[in-house]
Amino acid sequence: MHTDYDLVIIGAGPAGLTAGIYAGRAQLKTLLLEKAAPGGQILVSDWIENYPGFPEGISGADLMMKMAEQVKRFGIAIESNEVISVDLSGQIKKLTLSDRTATTKAIIIATGASPKKLGVPGEDEFYGKGVSTCATCDGPFFRDSVVVAVGGGDSAVQETIFLTRFAKKVYLIHRRDQLRATRILQERAFANDKIEFVWDSVVTRINGSEAGVQGVTVKNVKTGRTSDLSADGCFMWVGITPNTAFVKDAVQLDAGGFVVVNAKMETSTPGVYAAGDVRNTPLRQVATAVGDSAIAATEAAKYIENLEAGHS
Ligand code: NAP
Repeated sequence: MHTDYDLVIIGAGPAGLTAGIYAGRAQLKTLLLEKAAPGGQILVSDWIENYPGFPEGISGADLMMKMAEQVKRFGIAIESNEVISVDLSGQIKKLTLSDRTATTKAIIIATGASPKKLGVPGEDEFYGKGVSTCATCDGPFFRDSVVVAVGGGDSAVQETIFLTRFAKKVYLIHRRDQLRATRILQERAFANDKIEFVWDSVVTRINGSEAGVQGVTVKNVKTGRTSDLSADGCFMWVGITPNTAFVKDAVQLDAGGFVVVNAKMETSTPGVYAAGDVRNTPLRQVATAVGDSAIAATEAAKYIENLEAGHS
């Protein structure tokens, strides 16, 4: 059975890069695709201190650079390209890329997830003019400023703490009166006197002028009262949406749009695997993405071997 590739890995975040290392060592003819910069969401993470092997912690960018180097060492190149559509129904999987079509025996979906939008007036209008989801990219623009941050998960709390390096004050607006973030991050945030918590509240509008954000309108969900907060920026971390639109008719997704896999990282379609943030997982970390991909790539290699031996 002739195909252009044995394995196509879609996405070069921690999951895709790990799959690349395993595929390279298994000597599979592999295409590793990334539509943006290799590294995925973790690129914008200032400091990672829960990935083993780096006792002092490591920046997201440095960790991803090291993983990309390791992939290259095993002879896998990372191609900048986008998958437009897929036909995964047969044994030969067909992909339409932005510049050509390609065929492969197996696929690992490692496209990760993107930050969710709030869906309030002003969000799109002021995106890049004070509205942001990336503290490492945009935080330094807010030196000695007042900014708001929205959300109560790990991202919101970790990035809010990072913002206090620059901003003189950060209002952390959360829709409940308890954070979702892990305990150690909560404790650091509570101990940081530049952070003022705005509990039980949602942002209903981002206000500004041509120059950019000037503040937000906040509604207390318990009292129904609204008030305006003055701020120069509005950062949002209200969860993630999986990047699965291109496979929505090709593999089973859960209600949130995440790819459903079993313990072998197999999707509902034979020869198609998913790993990392894009899948239905209880924990989204670099460590879990790496573990998923070690399994996915090993299983994909076995699947390809069986296919070639005529057992599938
Ligand atoms: P998340 O855990 O889903 O948290 C989203 C937060 O936004 C929640 O606090 C949620 O409130 C709030 N929210 C959701 N929709 C909202 C809306 N429309 N308006 C206002 N608030 C809204 O997302 P995340 O923080 O981006 O994290 C994603 C994954 O990455 C998680 O698995 C997380 O553990 C992981 N992560 C880990 C680290 C780390 O280990 N250091 C760092 C970053 C991310 P409720 O709490 O009320 O639901």
